Amino acid sequence: MSESKIKSVAVLCSGGDSPGMNCAIRSVVRTAIGNGLDVYGIQRGYAGLLEGNVKKMDASSVGNILQHGGTILQTSRCPEFHQPEIRTEAAHILKRKGIDALIVIGGNGSFNGAWELHKEHGVLVAGIPGTIDNDIEGTDYSIGFNTAVQTAVEAVDKIRDTAHSHDRTFVVEVMGRKSPEIALHVGLCTGAENIILPTKDEINYDQIAADIKRGIKRGKGSSIIIAAEGEKEGLSHRVKDELLNKHGIDSRVCILGHIQRGGNPTAHDRFLASQMGYIAVESLCRGEKAIVTAQRKGKILAVPFEECLGKKFNTDPEFLDIVKTLSI
Ligand code: ADP
Repeated sequence: MSESKIKSVAVLCSGGDSPGMNCAIRSVVRTAIGNGLDVYGIQRGYAGLLEGNVKKMDASSVGNILQHGGTILQTSRCPEFHQPEIRTEAAHILKRKGIDALIVIGGNGSFNGAWELHKEHGVLVAGIPGTIDNDIEGTDYSIGFNTAVQTAVEAVDKIRDTAHSHDRTFVVEVMGRKSPEIALHVGLCTGAENIILPTKDEINYDQIAADIKRGIKRGKGSSIIIAAEGEKEGLSHRVKDELLNKHGIDSRVCILGHIQRGGNPTAHDRFLASQMGYIAVESLCRGEKAIVTAQRKGKILAVPFEECLGKKFNTDPEFLDIVKTLSI
């Protein structure tokens, strides 16, 4: 191990929480200690940083947490962080506390905040993708997505049992205000008859109704429609009303909601988070100034921060074809 370019590092979680964040915190803290660094935990994201809510951590601060959802550091949204003068204050606080580099675990918004801190004040930053939406550009996966999908799949399997017993149609609403990822994966994994994505396109109710009726005709006992919540509340109830009023199809609604954010992280998310935390710290020790730990083609890499600032929305049409083909 060569001499580290930094002496201390702090870690925070920001934006929406996701299962596996604890695992990443543990990895950051223990890798930092392994490199002889002082390591600090910032409570409640950028808001906590501005309050100076910064505590030194040791190996036992992160004992027995890797299997738990949520985040021991808690997280927050901090609208003030959009203001340059507030970020100046944050940079001063880091300097005053003797913190050489900041590791941010979060989504796009959180990364944009870290990038501004770096550009404006030269703060050394590493981003670790943590969001159930899996919508960060530049990385194939983010921490928490796999767990959220697994949770939703288990729930839909249970709903399918009762749907089948009663020959019922269900509209199951999953998370995804702008991102289609959870809906697509859950739809494919549960054999959903239809998936509604959060696009600007009109929902094709005629097509959905035709699919359901075709299934019934060939003796299908139940139908499941997976709907990504979208930006306007109440989508699944609107779908139910349209199907009933225009097509005479009765259905039940189940909104999975926040259960998708909680729970023990899957092995996949622990695997990702442990590697990402390690690579974030090692990269900063080697002298990297602004990187994100990204998964590309199965490998975890430190990539330039600028490559991970946008949102990805890449619904592969082939993916939808697979769903359609398998759910006849
Ligand atoms: P996520 O990180 O999960 O995408 P948000 O978009 O809510 O969540 O962002 C989390 C926080 O990151 C915001 O509350 C704000 O403090 C900070 N942030 C978001 N966008 C920016 C930006 N463009 N400039 C500075 N800070 C930002």
